[in-house]
Amino acid sequence: MSDTVDPARGPRPAVVALDVGGTFVKWLVADERGVLRQGSVETRAAAGPASAFAVVLDTVDTALSAVPATHRPVGVGVAVPGTVDERRGVCVHSENLGWRDLPVAQRLREHTGLAVGFGHDVRSGATAEARLGAGREVPDQVYVSVGTGLAAALLLDGRMVSSGGYAGEIGHGGALDGAPCVCGGRGCAETVASAAAIARRYTAASGVAVDGARDVLARARAGEDVARRVWDDAVEVLSSLVADLVRVTGVPHVVIGGGLVHAGEDLLGPLRDQVRARLTVHPDPRIVPAALGGTAGSWGAALLGWEASGADLGPIVAAYGDAARRPA
Ligand SMILES: [Zn+2]
Repeated sequence: MSDTVDPARGPRPAVVALDVGGTFVKWLVADERGVLRQGSVETRAAAGPASAFAVVLDTVDTALSAVPATHRPVGVGVAVPGTVDERRGVCVHSENLGWRDLPVAQRLREHTGLAVGFGHDVRSGATAEARLGAGREVPDQVYVSVGTGLAAALLLDGRMVSSGGYAGEIGHGGALDGAPCVCGGRGCAETVASAAAIARRYTAASGVAVDGARDVLARARAGEDVARRVWDDAVEVLSSLVADLVRVTGVPHVVIGGGLVHAGEDLLGPLRDQVRARLTVHPDPRIVPAALGGTAGSWGAALLGWEASGADLGPIVAAYGDAARRPA
């Protein structure tokens, strides 16, 4: 790859992309061929909503100053968690960041003077999987992210469904009783089937502190009853959600992403079996692991940045595919 400016064409275009999470803001600078620079900073969400947004603005500045002299920034892409209305460019509500009705896209446009693409973290990850990863060339699919939270993204006829930001919030609601949830409800799927819930429920039942869902799975594999029960509960709730999504939409392809997908066949094997058992008239969907891992949100944000800049996405997607699917 040449790092010199072509005198005939000038500096090459680049975008900066931010994947804003409750713990870290991951950023990268990419040109049409791949990632040029990347890094991450702590979100410091506990310091309050204004502080978390100040971190986002600082991180955009950091990323912009990391754009090499051979390139010029043409767009910013940003993906954030919570209830996100892409059409209005507004984060309606983010429990993790404390944001309510924050016009993120407009504020970033004012701050940078650049075109801004704005999206939901799970839908951005789903877009990246659909274009670069485990959902390529499948027009109808569901992406289910199982991590700290639990949410889905629905791609129908190649279009992402958002519905004002509420589509795919499968982690919340639906139950009338059970453990309290961050949303104010009780017994939501997220209180049983998220990676965070698996660790929390194991500790509540056993009195033993664990290092995340991965630790609970290791204990279940070793034959520990409490760990097995907590793991099986999570798979059962997930299978019910996935079967519901398939029954409502008829999608033939389900991509499982988020931190829990690292469990591999310990998650996917029983999930496939139970989804199959719950479906009668529907064909079994293909249930596959996400291909981009923890980088899906960043790749999705980069695509949002390119889209906002007016670039032709075709060649960019073709160039990104191999780099994105390479294991980190
Ligand atoms: Zn809830």
